[in-house]
Amino acid sequence: MSNRPTNLLLASLSPADLELLEPHLRPLDFQQHKILFEAGDSVLAVYFPYDAIISLVVTLSTGELIEAAMVGRDGVIGASAALDGRISVSRAVVQISGHGVSCDVDVLKHAARQSETLHSLLIRHEQVVYAQAQQTAACNVTHTIEERLARWLLRARDLSLSDRLPFTQEFLAEMLGVRRTSVSTVAHTLQQAGFLKYARGRIEIIDPHGLEESACECYFSVCKYYDTLLGLSNNK
Ligand SMILES: [Zn+2]
Repeated sequence: MSNRPTNLLLASLSPADLELLEPHLRPLDFQQHKILFEAGDSVLAVYFPYDAIISLVVTLSTGELIEAAMVGRDGVIGASAALDGRISVSRAVVQISGHGVSCDVDVLKHAARQSETLHSLLIRHEQVVYAQAQQTAACNVTHTIEERLARWLLRARDLSLSDRLPFTQEFLAEMLGVRRTSVSTVAHTLQQAGFLKYARGRIEIIDPHGLEESACECYFSVCKYYDTLLGLSNNK
């Protein structure tokens, strides 16, 4: 995969809209496992990842957490605050380290008030994130762990622009809300099929097309939402 790291949402802006933001964007290194904000926090900054991946997760009082959506180079984290949402409704945690840019939420809020097209884009983006969370909820109760793992790895591959994903089985189990042993069994099956190689703490995708055949429809549905609502496609 050879696409140059960039943020597709920023790249889709008109020159006039980009001009409202560009002087205020700061480069940022996202460190794996760093929490950008917790559910209930006031959102002070918004983040546009290039090749980093951020998970929006729901945390339960028992300590369990489940991923609701995965945002990367095709999105922005914290934009609902710029649309007056103010408070985050999920934890945003860096799932894969990488680069990106960030700006104060007030900058994006001000820009969205000045530009109808930017305002509209941000609303459509929030709609896509909502659609992704809905899809995940349906997926978690309907589809097999194998389908869900395949779907999840394909989305991570699209956003990180890499076939090598630094995930432990514990982490995958946590994100999918399943037992570690289930992830281990399914990873073994996908490895036997020749779709991926699993080494300690790292997954290498060998055959993405084979993995697509193992994934449930949710992977393609989410891709379609990004395409239809934002005009963005990840290597499709
Ligand atoms: Zn599914």
